[in-house]
Amino acid sequence: MMPTEDELKSKLTPEEYDVLRNKGTEIPYTGDFLGDIPQGTFVCKVCGNPLFYSNSKYNSMMGWPSFDQAVEGSVIEAADGGIGLQKIAVSCAHCRSHLGHVIEGGLSETGKIYNINSVSLILDETKAPPPRTERVRDDSPDERETLV
Ligand SMILES: [Zn+2]
Repeated sequence: MMPTEDELKSKLTPEEYDVLRNKGTEIPYTGDFLGDIPQGTFVCKVCGNPLFYSNSKYNSMMGWPSFDQAVEGSVIEAADGGIGLQKIAVSCAHCRSHLGHVIEGGLSETGKIYNINSVSLILDETKAPPPRTERVRDDSPDERETLV
């Protein structure tokens, strides 16, 4: 069951609450998970929904831990309403907590780069990620390629 906002306020640090529940952004290059990380599955800090696998990590050099793929069906992507830059916000499909933003047309294998706030994530090292066997670019369905 989802905790109430009051329960979340007492459970989370002020920074975690600001990011997860008020769409805040942690200061670049300050979070955990920026460098090498152990194998595992990143889950939502609020509800435990599996969001990203460690073998989807991508070094975007933008100041937040990044991934080129989310666990299928685990996140919601929605335009952020910002003017100019196309900012697509990423939130947890289960509890709707804010996670970060996704860039389309990046140089990663999938073309997507998810920049995710460290404070939104917990790394569960007991959940080994499935192997990256097949990779398909989301934006080019006619040119499917298998990258093994
Ligand atoms: Zn969640």
